[in-house]
Amino acid sequence: MPLLELKDLTVSYDRIEAVRGISLTVEDGELVTLIGANGAGKTTTMRAISGIRPVARGSVWFDGKDITRMKAHERVIAGIVQAPEGRGVFPGMTVVENLEMGSYARTFKTKAEHDATVDRVFDLFPRLLERRTQVGGTLSGGEQQMLAIGRALMARPRLLLLDEPSMGLAPLVIQQIFRIITEINKEGTTILLVEQNAQQALSRSDRAYILETGEVTTSGRGADLLADPAVKQAYLGVA
Ligand code: ATP
Repeated sequence: MPLLELKDLTVSYDRIEAVRGISLTVEDGELVTLIGANGAGKTTTMRAISGIRPVARGSVWFDGKDITRMKAHERVIAGIVQAPEGRGVFPGMTVVENLEMGSYARTFKTKAEHDATVDRVFDLFPRLLERRTQVGGTLSGGEQQMLAIGRALMARPRLLLLDEPSMGLAPLVIQQIFRIITEINKEGTTILLVEQNAQQALSRSDRAYILETGEVTTSGRGADLLADPAVKQAYLGVA
């Protein structure tokens, strides 16, 4: 049984169908990427999974349960946590305060459990530890992205949704972010990633789906898609 399954999912804005009958699965422990051009429906798909956007037709299944009608905050408690596109760091709060905002939905059973989660985030992102008393608004773009991912991890997700974490970052910082994403996945968190940086994303993913105008056109192992001539031409800038 997959951890996440979308069955024939359609999501609309008024009469425009941004996502048109897509089906996909994410198995427990996998790192899966959605690739697609601007407007293909990637963000809309993520919103339907996290429950921010209602589903017009089809269903969303998580851990064997139909969660299509479940409220967004209940999905966080169930283990689906999104680090939003555009980061959404609270600019006036310190790094530590931002991280604490991520744990609001999770009632830690003990202080030790809470502290272990904070420690894990600081282990993954030593830069955040160095800057723990600095306010979010003064962090660099890469640091804000780290903080957004760290905040999502505070809710101890089973499924982490990452929407374009490399957006607007310098190449070296992108490398760093992708290394950390791989590490989070290796430690056991299942990840669904939306990315325009197809080269990096495919090389690090177990599997990927390609979305075009709201439909899945291709899917397969990351490594296979990297070698696929049509994918190369459309998404990797190789003629
Ligand atoms: P990008 O990489 O540019 O973020 P995307 O693949 O994430 O693109 P979506 O943001 O999901 O694409 O958008 C899919 C389609 O839905 C687009 O045609 C977009 O214009 C439309 N759309 C997105 N949000 C809204 C909205 N709030 N109201 C109306 N249409 C929307």
